[in-house]
Amino acid sequence: TKEIQLANRPEGTPTDKDFNFVEKEIPAIGTDELLLKTLYLSVDPYMRGRMKDQKSYVAPFELNKAITGGVLAEVIESKSDKFKQGDIVNGTLDWAQYNVAAAKSVQKVDPSIAPITTRLGILGLTGLTAYFGLLDIGKPQQGETVVVSGAAGAVGSVVGQIAKLKGAHVVGIAGSQDKIDYLINELGFDAAVNYKDDNFKEAFKKAIPNGVDVYFDNVGGEVSDAVIFEINRNARVVLCGAISAYNNPQADIGPRIQWKFITTSSMMKGFTLGDYAHDFKTGAQELGKWLQEGKLKYEETIVEGFEKTPEAFLGLFEGSNLGKQLVKVADP
Ligand code: NDP
Repeated sequence: TKEIQLANRPEGTPTDKDFNFVEKEIPAIGTDELLLKTLYLSVDPYMRGRMKDQKSYVAPFELNKAITGGVLAEVIESKSDKFKQGDIVNGTLDWAQYNVAAAKSVQKVDPSIAPITTRLGILGLTGLTAYFGLLDIGKPQQGETVVVSGAAGAVGSVVGQIAKLKGAHVVGIAGSQDKIDYLINELGFDAAVNYKDDNFKEAFKKAIPNGVDVYFDNVGGEVSDAVIFEINRNARVVLCGAISAYNNPQADIGPRIQWKFITTSSMMKGFTLGDYAHDFKTGAQELGKWLQEGKLKYEETIVEGFEKTPEAFLGLFEGSNLGKQLVKVADP
């Protein structure tokens, strides 16, 4: 079996050379352990941060050790009375074709609720991030204008749809015409603008005739400068991610327009999903309910093959994904 290790701490944008595929033996499992076959891997922008040797809310990946992330797997062998062969589980596991894991470190996935891949997306980390960040910090009210950047991605697409459910005027920002069309035609956003267009700022201003009450920020940088410039009185800026800066060798400057917060009595608050760990069940239940009622839609971009994992990860920084980016490793 193979695992993917971090070979270097990338300077700037990572490349294929920063990942090593290494053969390893599958160890025998002990009491309360499971042998797991990887079905799907999640690649996520936050993993770029873990490739740096810096103090953060999660420890850095170790060099020449397997990268870990969200994995959906099938139980092949179980020495735990909580799991049986054939069960599907979800956990933070090695980027490997097979894992041996403690039974208590994974959660069972019920395939009757929704397709299992939703546990790595809309009913998992990215859906919950959208749910808690928007509702607890953004607090969108009926008729308010909610702007979300990274709008066609895993988190952003859920943010916009929940904001619509709350009766807001929703404006998405994304990086291609196809994504703009998807947001408006498929997800029901009121407007969407392409930040790569030359006339982005003018187009954006047209899309927000009543200013911005909530800004859910997934990207940071110049896109966010443009949005924050337009915030209304008592606006809420939710700092979720800053993908535009993740590959910058130097720390990004900013926030660059503090005076806007002063003159509008607005607030800006960051968060990580772990802040809401005590409430995951509530969030997952409500998201699951909306999904079953057809009130939420989701998209997945799935590349096939374990060896394509680095490529799928690097694609996040080029915007090659619509919705959640996953890697399919094996069939159940
Ligand atoms: P996405 O599915 O949104 O994928 C990343 C997207 O970012 C790409 O599709 C691309 O879309 C966009 N992007 C890439 N580079 C740039 C750039 N330079 N400027 C603007 N947009 C860019 O990923 P996720 O939904 O998983 O994550 C979205 C954000 O949320 C990330 O910043 C991530 O770190 C953060 N996050 C935070 C969490 C938390 O707990 N705070 C938890 C999970 C995620 P496009 O084509 O539009 O450019």
